[in-house]
Amino acid sequence: MTRRVTRGLRFRLTAAYALFLALLMTTVSVGFQQYLSGSLDQQARDILEQEFAALKAYMHVEPGQEGFHPVWLIDRDDPDEAATMARLQRVFLLTDSKGKMIDESPAYQAIGTDTPAEIETALKSNDKFKEKLDPKRVPYLFRRGVIIAEDNHTRFFVSLGLSLESDRQLLRQFTLLVSVAVPLIILAGCLMAWVLAGRGLAPVLEVAQAAQRISGSNLSLRIPTRGVHDELDVLIETFNEMIARLEDSFGQIRQFSTDVSHELRTPLTILRGQLEVALFTAETKEQYREAIEDSLQDIERLGQIVRALLLLSQAETGQVILQRSALDLAELVRDTADQFQIPAEGARVRLQVATPVVCEAELDRVQIERMLSNLLSNAIKFTPDGGEVRVTLDREENQAILTIADTGCGIPPEHLPHIFDRFYRVGGQDPAASPEKGLGLGLSFVAWIVKAHQGTIHVESQQGKGTVFTLTLPLHPEAPAAQPQTEDAAPMKKI
Ligand code: ADP
Repeated sequence: MTRRVTRGLRFRLTAAYALFLALLMTTVSVGFQQYLSGSLDQQARDILEQEFAALKAYMHVEPGQEGFHPVWLIDRDDPDEAATMARLQRVFLLTDSKGKMIDESPAYQAIGTDTPAEIETALKSNDKFKEKLDPKRVPYLFRRGVIIAEDNHTRFFVSLGLSLESDRQLLRQFTLLVSVAVPLIILAGCLMAWVLAGRGLAPVLEVAQAAQRISGSNLSLRIPTRGVHDELDVLIETFNEMIARLEDSFGQIRQFSTDVSHELRTPLTILRGQLEVALFTAETKEQYREAIEDSLQDIERLGQIVRALLLLSQAETGQVILQRSALDLAELVRDTADQFQIPAEGARVRLQVATPVVCEAELDRVQIERMLSNLLSNAIKFTPDGGEVRVTLDREENQAILTIADTGCGIPPEHLPHIFDRFYRVGGQDPAASPEKGLGLGLSFVAWIVKAHQGTIHVESQQGKGTVFTLTLPLHPEAPAAQPQTEDAAPMKKI
């Protein structure tokens, strides 16, 4: 359970946020503390510099009977000047250049008077500032320097001190505040991140629950979008589109099974009827023979449907691989059309072909023949006596444009979008009603063959005037020619 929580997105988001906040707060606190410490230090140095300048102005060292002594040039009645002198004398040391004491305040004495050696070093090194602790471990900063006596050549060592206690106190308070406040802020941040991540991820769980409810039997369910057009809504829309496509595919499969059973049931019923009639009514050998011949025809039709379906499903599932070879498409179009001259004459339809002399291409001969046969047989079949079917082939850069135009009955506009669907026949779905009608699979094959050759197919039709199929076929494939196919290569009359 613990593992599940720690692996959850909510936990990881919160942890990442907490880590980021902790790093940020620590960096900011440390940075600010250093800045504060630096500026307090600078402030103390500035104060001492000012006091040292004041000391030089207010105090002179003059010789006397007992040697040199400090003289304060101050109006003691002026409270400001008196206060300045008191401040300067608070932590104060005056010695000669050898370190011999001349004047020293008690506070300085308590901290510890500088030894003559220290004073000598200080005078040589020009090191102005120094820090020391008093017996109570209170830190002091000292400004040391030289004062020249009234005689203009005797040098004296002066040191002024300033307690840093209030500065250090301020820093300690700041550190205390930070060490309490930062963990509290991080904790509050974690809580906020946990709540926000929970709220942000709640719709994801809702989506997951909704997705769980969708199964094969209720694919019509959709996950409602929240209408905020955020990433999650995009995800939901994408998911819904995917379900719609699945529903579509499921629908097609269902429709296909219904169509197949219907297609097989009708000839089987007819067959059964014929055989029953023959069994109960036929008396002579000829009558039996006729019944068997009729039945064989129906069995042939059944076999044709099964073969066509098998081939189509193999083609659509990618099991039929094109076998491209170099060929002359113009010649192939002319030869295939020639095969339809006799049926066309029988139907009293004029079949005209216009192709360039040569049109070299790399196509699958068997499939292109099958495609042409299906289109031509449809064109002749749906064109009445005295009509015309015109086949033209043109070459445009790397593609061939093939049109098959007829002056036949045309296709009503509402049927146009469906004519490439399996078993789709315009004007009645029962082939038994009109046996010369096909299986409704021919154009499905055409569509697959065109697609497999990376071509396009387009149909325009006017009812009562005729239909034009326009196909484009790339003449040379971009990819190398495909491997040998496993399919039975015999061309079919239709399909
Ligand atoms: P079929 O084997 O029934 O011809 P197809 O898939 O080849 O099946 O065609 C589907 C339907 O499209 C046909 O039933 C027919 O109604 C219509 N059709 C196809 N080609 C033509 C055409 N040239 N003129 C009119 N209708 C056509």
